[in-house]
Amino acid sequence: MNAEERVRLLREVELAGNCSNPIRIKGEMVNLATGEVGVSSLHISCKDRRTVICPSCSYTYKADAWILVSTGLLGGKGTPEEVRTHPRLFVTLTAPPFGVVHTITARGTCVSTARSAPHEGRGQTCRHGRSRICRERHLKDCLELGRPLCSECFDYEGAVLWNAHASKLWNNTVQSIRRTLADTGGLGQRNLKRVAQVHYLKVAEMQRRGLIHFHAILRADGAGSVDAEPPSWLTSESLALAVSRAARTVSAVGLDGRAIRWGERFTIQDLGHTEEDTTKVPSYVAKYATKTTDGTKELARPFHSRRQIRHLIDDPHAQALALTAWDLDLCATWAPLRLQDHAHAFGFTGQLITKSRDYSTTFKALRGARAEFMSSRNLGDPLEGTFHYEGRGYDDPKATQLAELFFSMHRELRMEGAEARRRGATPVPESI
Ligand SMILES: [Zn+2]
Ligand SMILES: [Zn+2]
Ligand SMILES: [Zn+2]
Repeated sequence: MNAEERVRLLREVELAGNCSNPIRIKGEMVNLATGEVGVSSLHISCKDRRTVICPSCSYTYKADAWILVSTGLLGGKGTPEEVRTHPRLFVTLTAPPFGVVHTITARGTCVSTARSAPHEGRGQTCRHGRSRICRERHLKDCLELGRPLCSECFDYEGAVLWNAHASKLWNNTVQSIRRTLADTGGLGQRNLKRVAQVHYLKVAEMQRRGLIHFHAILRADGAGSVDAEPPSWLTSESLALAVSRAARTVSAVGLDGRAIRWGERFTIQDLGHTEEDTTKVPSYVAKYATKTTDGTKELARPFHSRRQIRHLIDDPHAQALALTAWDLDLCATWAPLRLQDHAHAFGFTGQLITKSRDYSTTFKALRGARAEFMSSRNLGDPLEGTFHYEGRGYDDPKATQLAELFFSMHRELRMEGAEARRRGATPVPESI
């Protein structure tokens, strides 16, 4: 490779924002300064949120997710600072048990017995002769964690269908919270917005047992505008009461008429007490936003066939969940859920991060601001034209390695800079 080619390769990787697997676009461009027309090929970043797919884009996504959560709690980027005085809760809602699985306490003791499903009864052994109690001490990265003690007893169909209806259950929960609050304020069920609003941001996390649970931030504002004070009766306490009532009573009706409900375990944390909580929660949510179903590449994208699931997924529990989703799609009742498209997410059909419109800024606005900033740094002549999709990846495979190397250097320098600032020393420059 000669010097000119090397410079071109470096520039290509830089323009794609160190993306590992960029989108290739091609088009005819007019140079607005000279009127010259030429064919241009460009690489733009893939914007994939998953670390295993693209470390660089995932890092940017994580930062955006952090801003999205944080500005909804503390204000900024168009959200008024008054929100920090409003009632704000951090809520975790989980799925019910679908079979006894290995689960550990902080001390490593297995608490599998606490997670038994109603259909399994209460005996020491199941009807397949397997023990229903595990007396092991598990390490945090033990492969057994989340796996059932008896895979024949585990209700795979129930688990996948629960995941498939989880988003609907969440929507019903938000409606129920708003209705309960309207009731508390002595208003008609649909009249809460005359005096107050409830906004949320939620992130879905896949538990090791293969069931989705939701972490959500809920905030109550006054009517009309986000900076308006909520009425005096709408406090963290009344909001928490409405949430716990919804978690215990709300259901979603499945396509076969079955009722889908939350599990008994849920937590509600008041974020109004310490400043520390409002800085910890955005990091917590951003961390989950860049994970795949189980943190591997194999469960990052939809499957093409049943055979592919059997071939790619080694973990027997994960494989059974994905195969169950695949097979349920063949049944007319469940066909509208398109479960084969979501077999890699064990039937979960929803978005990973969702929020109500006025919770805070949007991913789109943050990306727009970044694009504007980048174009303001581009000192070349302005270009105009139409591009079309050409394919994925760089022309030279070495560019992918280069992108990942650049990204890790950027990240190390940023971390060193942050560490130096903490120690009060001269910060290391943030770009290379
Ligand atoms: Zn990328
Ligand atoms: Zn165990
Ligand atoms: Zn059994």
